[in-house]
Amino acid sequence: MKKWVPVFLLILVLFPSLDVWAWGPVGHRIVGEIAQTRLLPEVETKIRKNFNIKKLSDVANWADRVRNKRSQKTWHYCNIKKSKWTYKKNRDCPGGDCVVEKIGDFAKALMNEEISVIKRKEALMYLVHFVGDVHQPLHLGNARDRGGNKIRVKYKGKRTNLHSLWDGRLIHLGGKNLLQYSRDLSRRNTASVKWNSSKVTEWADESRGFALDHAYSLDRSLNGRLSKIYIERSREIIELRLSQAGVRLAGMLNRLLSGNHSAATGKENLP
Ligand SMILES: [Zn+2]
Repeated sequence: MKKWVPVFLLILVLFPSLDVWAWGPVGHRIVGEIAQTRLLPEVETKIRKNFNIKKLSDVANWADRVRNKRSQKTWHYCNIKKSKWTYKKNRDCPGGDCVVEKIGDFAKALMNEEISVIKRKEALMYLVHFVGDVHQPLHLGNARDRGGNKIRVKYKGKRTNLHSLWDGRLIHLGGKNLLQYSRDLSRRNTASVKWNSSKVTEWADESRGFALDHAYSLDRSLNGRLSKIYIERSREIIELRLSQAGVRLAGMLNRLLSGNHSAATGKENLP
């Protein structure tokens, strides 16, 4: 097996845009890259100096790596009551252990200069990840099918499940590498001011809307295969959600870390 490793690495170097990147953690890295281009210079410096983080994308998947060890799986999503279109804390997240509430918790922790630097750095790393998660429509899915994990589909001739498709397999870099793709998405964002004047609960509601309206609406007659129309529309939605997540993550960090705390504790981004 070992002799294949250099060949594999060579392939990655020669073809950085191959689909191999479009699996698993790629969505979170894209969100981190988009946010990075939009950080205020003073905030970027603060993140580098105080927390030793050069790029947000480098820490974007840390929360997934620790989630099982720390028993934090539920922090990454929130199941919404069947056929309901909006998030309600008392009904859907009474204990506060879901992605929507965790974003609020860690936003407060990041601003709290009385706790240790390590705790604040962790809060930042959780935020980078969870702002991505809350924008993935099937992270606001139904409990019954575990956010699409139990729904089997076929994609590119392989068997997978609906959640996994939306977690990354549908991301289509279209011949670009991850950095180019992220920069292009960031440049295309014209609605960023509007996007930044919304609350975390609204981000969750948008995801829920896309889940019910589109992600779950598979054509049953295709027996788990996806129609071209479904794939194309899904990719449009995923690009929009990655863009919104990146823009909003940067907006949130700029407010929380620029010293303008009064703006950060306002209603804009905290639930
Ligand atoms: Zn996650």
